[in-house]
Amino acid sequence: MDKLVIASNNAHKIREIKAILAGLFPEILSMAEAGLEVDIPETGETFMDNALLKASYVTEATGLPALADDSGLEVLALLGAPGVYSARYAGVHGDDHANNEKLLRELAAARVPDRRGRYACCIALTRPGRPPLTAMGFCEGEILREYRGSGGFGYDPLFYLPSLGKSMAELTPEEKNAISHRAQALRSLYEKLVAEA
Ligand code: IMP
Repeated sequence: MDKLVIASNNAHKIREIKAILAGLFPEILSMAEAGLEVDIPETGETFMDNALLKASYVTEATGLPALADDSGLEVLALLGAPGVYSARYAGVHGDDHANNEKLLRELAAARVPDRRGRYACCIALTRPGRPPLTAMGFCEGEILREYRGSGGFGYDPLFYLPSLGKSMAELTPEEKNAISHRAQALRSLYEKLVAEA
């Protein structure tokens, strides 16, 4: 595969995916670089539905292979919320601060005093005339009571990694890309691609 379009408008995700896939694909394009200025509605009920929906849209529109990520945070005491609604948990798509504040409020009100959660990520790869490939990755942690760190994006300042003693927002980009749900899903997808060859 020469060209690969990343089916996302999230600059943070694009940066992380490009860093992880650098070396594997000669040319990685954002949707804007591929000439697509659209917001693809995420109407699916699962991470996989949404990842497939976004990647297929881009492959159909450009005729190029496309890779989409759909990801989010699942919190045990909130029965898996915010889940597929992670980006718009507080109502406005992509308002990270409002989403984090809502997460803190919901957990403070939760009946079970359990702050365990995990990030989940589904990666879908679509190619013209070939069946899609998908892969999942997870990263386990706990939800903090206060913000820590300024790196990453989304829920990272509230997502604590007990094994590292740091929040996700306290990691360098390289450290995050070594352990994140997205990195694990991408590695798993890569293994599927190699097995196919
Ligand atoms: P999507 O664009 O529907 O996949 O939205 C993903 C949402 O999940 C983001 O807007 C964040 O709120 C959250 N999320 C996914 N991955 C991460 C991550 O690596 N760090 C922090 N938040 C994340």
